[in-house]
Amino acid sequence: MKEVDTSIIKNKCIISISLLFLVAAVTLFVTENIKKQIPYEIAYEYVNIKDMATAKVATKKDDTNILTTLTTKKRTTPIPVEQIELPVRNNTLPTLESPKPIWYLPVENGVITQYPSYSHAALDITSYRGSDEVIHPVANGTISGIYTDGAGAKIVTIHHLIDGVNYTSQYVHLSSYAPDIYVGKPVTINDSIGQMGTTGYSTGIHLHIAVLDCTLFDPNDNKCSNLGGFFRYASERYSQGFYGLGSLMNVPYSWNSR
Ligand SMILES: [Zn+2]
Repeated sequence: MKEVDTSIIKNKCIISISLLFLVAAVTLFVTENIKKQIPYEIAYEYVNIKDMATAKVATKKDDTNILTTLTTKKRTTPIPVEQIELPVRNNTLPTLESPKPIWYLPVENGVITQYPSYSHAALDITSYRGSDEVIHPVANGTISGIYTDGAGAKIVTIHHLIDGVNYTSQYVHLSSYAPDIYVGKPVTINDSIGQMGTTGYSTGIHLHIAVLDCTLFDPNDNKCSNLGGFFRYASERYSQGFYGLGSLMNVPYSWNSR
C-alpha cells in the first residue's frame, strides 16, 4: 500500500510541475507577442529638451571615436554636396514618378506604425527584418550629427540642400551606427548610416524619421539651430501642413522591395 501511495504522490508532483512550466511558457509567449505587436515608441518626443541639448556628437576629428559634448559653436558648418543624378537604389518603388527623383524611402522593407501629428511630426517605420534592416539617407547630403539623446537613442542627422532649400533628415532609435560615418561626411541614398533599432524611449524596433526644411546645428539657422528648436519647428511646420517625408514623396503604408 505504501508503495502505491508514493507513486500517486510522485505522479501528482510531476503533473503539478509540468503545469507550472506550461503556464510559464504560455505567459512568456504571450508577453513576447504583445511586445512585437507594439513596434513603435510611446514617448520619444517627451525626452527632456535639456537632455537633448547636451546630446553627444562624434566628429571627424575623433579618430579614436571618443564622443565629445556637442555645442553649436563647435560644430562645423555642413558641407553642401551637389545633388547629382545617381543610379536609383534597387529598392526604390515605382510609386516615385518624379522626373528627377530626389527623395527615397530610408529602408528596403517597411510598415508605417505611426503617422505624423502635432506632437510627433515624424514617421515611424518598422520592418520584419528587425535590426537587420539597414537605414539609408532619404536624399543625398552631408551627415550633420551623430549623437545619443538623454534616453540613449542613437541618432543620425543629415543635411540636404535641394533646389536651394536646406533640409535636415533625422533618424532615431538606431541599434548601431555604420562604422564609417562621421559628421561632415557626404552621403548618398546608396550609403548605410546604421541599422534599425529600439534605443532610447521605444517599445520595439523601428525607425523614427523626421524631415524638416531647416539646418539643424547651424548656428545661423534661427529655426532649428539646436535640438530644442528642431522639435519646436517640427510642430510649427506640422500645424502649417508640412508633414516631413510624406510631404516630399509618396510614402506607401507598407513596402517590400524583395
Ligand atoms: Zn516616432
